[in-house]
Formats: sequence, C-alpha cells, structure tokens
Amino acid sequence: MAFEGLTERLQNAMKKLRGKGKVSQSDLRETMREIRLALLEADVNFQVVRQFVKTVEQRATGAKVLEGLNPSQQIVKIVDEELTKMMGDEAVPLNKSEKIPTVIMMSGLQGAGKTTTVGKLALKLKNEQNARPLLIADDVYRPAAIEQLQTVGQQVDVPVFQLGTDVDPVEIAKRGLAQAQENHNDYVIIDTAGRLQIDEKLMGELSDIKKAVNPDEILLVIDAMTGQNAVATAQGFDETLDVTGVVLTKLDGDTRGGAALSIRAVTGKPIKFVGQGEKMSDLDVFHPDRMASRILG
Ligand code: GDP
Repeated sequence: MAFEGLTERLQNAMKKLRGKGKVSQSDLRETMREIRLALLEADVNFQVVRQFVKTVEQRATGAKVLEGLNPSQQIVKIVDEELTKMMGDEAVPLNKSEKIPTVIMMSGLQGAGKTTTVGKLALKLKNEQNARPLLIADDVYRPAAIEQLQTVGQQVDVPVFQLGTDVDPVEIAKRGLAQAQENHNDYVIIDTAGRLQIDEKLMGELSDIKKAVNPDEILLVIDAMTGQNAVATAQGFDETLDVTGVVLTKLDGDTRGGAALSIRAVTGKPIKFVGQGEKMSDLDVFHPDRMASRILG
C-alpha cells in the first residue's frame, strides 16, 4: 500500500502528544523532528519539508495551541491542513475549451503510464460527460505504441487516429485534430512519445506539437514510484512545456509518497488525477484533502 511507512511514522510521532494536558515547546519540537524525518524518508523534497515544519511550528505556537484544550488534537488538525495545502488545497478540474474539441496533450517518460492514462481518461470523459473523444497515436518511434493505443481504444470503445510510424508527429497531431473537427469530437487526446529520460530531441518535438495544436490541457504523467526523480522529471517537462496539470500513476503500488506530496509545492502545477491500478476504470480525481486524510490514516 502507498504511504504505509509514512502513515505509521506520522501517527507514532503524534501519538506521543496524546493525553498531554499541555504540550511544551520542546515536546512540539521533538514531534516536529520526527515528522520531518518521516517526510524526508518518504522522499518528500527537503525544501518542501522545511517549509512545512516551519509553518506547523509557527501555527501551533502562535495560536496558543500548546496551552489550549486538546493540544494534540489541534496539532493533528494543523498537520492535516498543512499537508492538504502542500498538495494544492482544492481539486483542480480539467481545462475545457469553449468550442470543441478540447485538446489534451499527454506527456511523460516511457513507462510512466501515458498510454494507459489516455484510455482511462477517455473512459472517464465518456462515462461522466457523455463525451466522444478521439485518441491520436503520436508516438512514432515504437510501432508497438500505436498497437497499444489501439488496444486501449478498443477496450474503452473510443476511436484512434493513426498514420503509422513514417509521418512526422506534428503532422499527425494536426491531421488528427482536423479529423476531430470534421467529426465533431468534443475531446482529442494526444498520446505522445516518451523516453527513458528527458532529452532535447524529445522536448523539441513535444514543443513543436504543442505549437501546432495549441492544447487546452497539457497533462504530465508521472510514475509515483519514482520518488525524488518524479519531481526532477516534472520540473524538466514543465520548463519546456509549461504543463497545465499532472497525473500521478501507480499510487496503488507501495510508493513512499514523496512525489504526491512534493510535486505541487515544487512545480506549482496541480495534480489533477491519480492512477490507482491497471484497469481502465482506475483513474480518480485528485482531492488534496482526501489524500491528506489517507496519509494521516
Ligand atoms: P507509457 O510508456 O507512459 O505509455 O506507459 P504505459 O501506459 O504503457 O504503462 C506502463 C505500465 O504501467 C503498464 O504495464 C501499465 O499497465 C502500468 N500502469 C499504468 N498506470 C498504472 C497505475 O495507475 N497503476 C498500476 N499498478 N499500473 C499502472
């Protein structure tokens, strides 16, 4: 389970305060030291951790929480609120264009879960908005990628536009979009190529596709299992693409949780969805408050 270690350590850190009529400044400091270590061990970015600890300490001290009623409960509440804030406070909906189609461009490293997420998102739009999306196969470097998208398209019963592997991805994106306009599809979801790591050629291509189709939404798909690297990857993609949202995948695995907790604070970009399994129905809107509750257990 994701967050298991973190949840246990946070609970242990705060348990020691329970039952204390008054919490001294040094009790608080000790608890915050443990919370800090728990977050660092979960791979949360150290600057994010530092800011978090400082804010919680200030709030707990400033509001005379330590001498008030139920200080431990109040500290738990502050921790909960600040974790929520760290992840962005409110759920942020998908951008929608005033006239159809809304263009969604997916990006991310190879294996992050892009193609799977394209299918999941199409299914979600179909189920929740009665939408008619068109998927565009724009990864021309791996023939298997096109087949994989076609399989995904069949699974969710959504058409896939493809021109094989010999056409320039910018051209494919443009022609796919033209077809969507002709057919009055209300969403276009572009599955782009990924690499094992960020490189200039890939970023150049993604940037060209962006210019050509002017997406309403550029979603960056990030594997939550990759810890600190997830944040570095997010920063790298965001620098070139100025992404509009993040999808965090594999939250059903045993990720320590650092990516979920750091990405928003470090990049300023909202996590819009989380992938929690391999099935097409395993995509959920990201709610920071619910995630904070889940982390605190
Ligand atoms: P891409 O290379 O970015 O297009 O990645 P894929 O969509 O091919 O996904 C890579 C692997 O991750 C596949 O085996 C997917 O089934 C798996 N995967 C994607 N999202 C999730 C998720 O949320 N949870 C789990 N457990 N597996 C996922």
